[in-house]
Amino acid sequence: MTILPIVMFPERILQQKCAKITSFDKKLAKLLNNMYETMVEADGVGLAAPQVGVKKQVAVVEIEEGSGVIELINPEVLEVEGEQTGVEGCLSFPDLYGEVSRPYRVKVRAQDRKGNFFEIEAEGFLARAIQHEMDHLQGVLFTSKVSRYITEEELERFEEK
Ligand code: ZN
Repeated sequence: MTILPIVMFPERILQQKCAKITSFDKKLAKLLNNMYETMVEADGVGLAAPQVGVKKQVAVVEIEEGSGVIELINPEVLEVEGEQTGVEGCLSFPDLYGEVSRPYRVKVRAQDRKGNFFEIEAEGFLARAIQHEMDHLQGVLFTSKVSRYITEEELERFEEK
């Protein structure tokens, strides 16, 4: 596996809509493996393909290392419910954190690396991470949804709790 360089804001690819995956081949498997490795190395909880320079609808999410990676290909939101507000960051925006409101629960339909469709329901922080990564695939960045930016000092206090 290879650690890929992470694309930083304001690279244009981060604000463009990604194309759907149509071939579920070895190249896709390799991309997914490398994206996972890159996310873990960067200490992230999610990574979207445009963040490694690939304009395709592919994302990986793992909110706790070792909990099992969720691979989302061509994901679509089926249902949302409730609301939550919490702190988010993004590997493409080092040291930038802000409060973002999102639905509390989400139901998503996506394809796995073999092209099989599946549905996943998530709530709380996992739902937040999935929605953040899915936004990336539409060229939407969390900064467009931040209601308040958090200083590093505030963040540390937040993490101590
Ligand atoms: Zn991000």
